Amino acid sequence: MKQKKPHGGEFHHKHSLGQNFIEDEALLEQLAELSLVTQEDCVLEIGPGFGTLTKPLARRAKRVLALEIDEALLPILRVTLEHSNNATVLQGDVMKTRLAPLVSEAFGADASLRVAANLPYYITTDVLTKLLFELPQAKSIAVMIQKEVGDKLLSGPGDEGYGPLAILCQFYYDVRRALDVPAACFTPPPKVDSSFMVLVRREKPLCEPADESLFLKLVRAAFVMRRKTLVNNLVSGFSLGREEAASLLEEAGIRTQARAEELSIEALCMLSDRIAARRSAGA
Ligand code: SAM
Repeated sequence: MKQKKPHGGEFHHKHSLGQNFIEDEALLEQLAELSLVTQEDCVLEIGPGFGTLTKPLARRAKRVLALEIDEALLPILRVTLEHSNNATVLQGDVMKTRLAPLVSEAFGADASLRVAANLPYYITTDVLTKLLFELPQAKSIAVMIQKEVGDKLLSGPGDEGYGPLAILCQFYYDVRRALDVPAACFTPPPKVDSSFMVLVRREKPLCEPADESLFLKLVRAAFVMRRKTLVNNLVSGFSLGREEAASLLEEAGIRTQARAEELSIEALCMLSDRIAARRSAGA
């Protein structure tokens, strides 16, 4: 599909890059407002497109760094952002960029950092996971994503879609759905509706496992085979005997037939502490 460029001419969207743009200025102002950005904050924006969200973000922020993969958008961004002196555009693939050095070089090591984006949907999970681990100092991550991925981020035990992404997001962030945005608000309209989700970093994670990296390993291992019982996933993920795995579950107050999708984050935390204790007793 072709779209008029902000300053004349036509732009051919690349579906493969998730190019669904927003032009409605009132909506863009609202998204920038919901992104919690203040004059104190430096903002990393992923995928500025025409720069329509970059502009209201730059009006609110100290500085904005926008990372865009598509070279064809750079000359357009130069024009759209010519009066946004505190906004810088960099060409690059977010998935191939080391974000920690990027933001510390751009903003300084102690900057108050926030992330905002109308994300390309084909990499939502990977980008969120990357942000979570590479930019723990980010005070918030405000992202437009598919509505059903938004549901997933808010899901709990027993819900469809409850899994490592929801657990990791909720463990580190207070996750809120700030706004539902219908497909018709985008050019071209995607096949699905979207939600603008705002993740605010918690001062401390939701629970405090004795060994955080073991907890993270457990979250991944527990869901490797979703349909299998937790015992099976523990046996393969932690090289345990079946009886040992079952006794760890009992110690953590979890049914031995339980599946990972039934467990709250707190229960997973408790189980990770039992595994850590067993390991140090055996060491
Ligand atoms: N922010 C603009 C808006 O709201 O109108 C554009 C949003 S559009 C959904 C996603 C943007 O991300 C596009 O500009 C696309 O070229 C860019 N993009 C896609 N993959 C990317 C990647 N791997 N790294 C950086 N930018 C990417």
